[in-house]
Amino acid sequence: MPIATVNPASGETLKTYDALGAEEIGRRIATAAEAFATYRNTTFGDRAVLLGRAAELLEEDEKDIARVMTTEMGKPLAQARAEAAKCVKAMRWYAARAESLLADEHPSAVDVEDSGADRARVVYRPLGVVLAVMPWNFPLWQVIRFAAPALMAGNVGLLKHASNVPQTALYLEDLFRRASFPEGCFQTLLIGSGAVEGVLRDPRVAAATLTGSEPAGRSVASIAGDEIKKTVLELGGSDPFVVMPSADLDEAARTAVTARVQNNGQSCIAAKRFIVHESVYDDFAQRFAEGMRALRVGDPMDEETQVGPLSSEQGRTDLEALVEDAVQKGATVLCGGLRPEELGERGWYYAPTVLADVTDAMRIHHEEAFGPVATLYRVPDLDAAVRLANDTPFGLSSNVWTRDEAEVARFARDLEAGGVYVNGMTASHPAFPFGGVKRSGYGRELSGHGIHEFCNATTVWQRD
Ligand code: NAP
Repeated sequence: MPIATVNPASGETLKTYDALGAEEIGRRIATAAEAFATYRNTTFGDRAVLLGRAAELLEEDEKDIARVMTTEMGKPLAQARAEAAKCVKAMRWYAARAESLLADEHPSAVDVEDSGADRARVVYRPLGVVLAVMPWNFPLWQVIRFAAPALMAGNVGLLKHASNVPQTALYLEDLFRRASFPEGCFQTLLIGSGAVEGVLRDPRVAAATLTGSEPAGRSVASIAGDEIKKTVLELGGSDPFVVMPSADLDEAARTAVTARVQNNGQSCIAAKRFIVHESVYDDFAQRFAEGMRALRVGDPMDEETQVGPLSSEQGRTDLEALVEDAVQKGATVLCGGLRPEELGERGWYYAPTVLADVTDAMRIHHEEAFGPVATLYRVPDLDAAVRLANDTPFGLSSNVWTRDEAEVARFARDLEAGGVYVNGMTASHPAFPFGGVKRSGYGRELSGHGIHEFCNATTVWQRD
């Protein structure tokens, strides 16, 4: 894939970049390793000042960087601004809390004595140079949610961003430089995916985190496994959105629309499968389809737009293939199911779509629909809802709508996912761990869990 900014709203190539050669990549890794040797000894206070300054700069840049993101991957402008603001919040959150999250731990006196020590503690030390392979869909947020905790823990970062967001990738490197992080603490490598293996196998690189598709995750994890290096994987999702009889149907249907089409439907934690109790199915289906049909699809730079284009032509082709397969096998199209004709040939638009009568014979039942396409299922009871919600290779998050506390307890216990959001939609927050199980990956980002992923928990055992 060429490293280029191609506007998804027009298909126009705006800027292309040459990929770094092997020699330059080696030089950058050396710079990162040198930076780590000194940066690891800075205090939490020093790092908090640097990250705080980066947050301030990003806040000032919010409008400009939002336009860059929208130009590169097509999300509506207001959502791009909100993404930048969320990054600022996460940076401040980690700047303020990293020291206490990584404070030394002191085992109980009984355990210390039992181990034969006079004193013992656990200290958290950084791992070193961490490679981050990141996707285009939240081009700022995905990187910041890795970089903020990693830098606060004393690690340094190498970013291999998706090839279609090079300007955002370069902006990030520049942001950390302007904030006065020492040279080499955060570098962007403009490289294709084929060059990732060489970076990952370099002995100066300690670990990797990847957010993206299953094939990319499998490849990076295999190489890292071969090298015995730590990885965190944040992969795809096909989150259930379960509606039970006691739900507030109006609010559930309204939220369902947002949960499905946020970021033009290209979010790992978007609700994708809508599983509805039969007693409220018809009512919910009607409101949901009406809401999806009413969305304003169009130029993402227009403040009125709610759904922009898909990020690439390939992305739209893949989505169309999933819908065609389902329709051929008997799915009913409640709305959408085609390209919006009124927008013409330019841009990779797809109409918000709701498919009913979906069965497990259809690809869309098992695969992630990365665009504004929802599947609807009717279930007779709670057991069937739980079974269907778990009938997916993925396990990222889940949404359930009910006022029945016994049902909430059952979902919280039995849904195979990294999150259970009750009467609301999944949204990441710095304070809560984020990540999945099954084919959605492993490891956690955000919260105390996220900052511990790239630390060496070291036992210091001592006799006087
Ligand atoms: P992708 O094709 O896997 O790309 C993600 C990143 O991996 C890009 O930087 C890409 O580089 C690189 N890459 C691709 N193949 C690789 C390989 N074989 N070895 C090393 N690196 C490789 O994913 P995408 O289509 O851009 O993003 C969408 C996917 O990401 C969806 O499945 C979505 O659910 C998932 N996602 C998950 C989360 C989460 O937190 N769980 C968040 C956002 C997105 P190039 O661009 O150069 O190919």
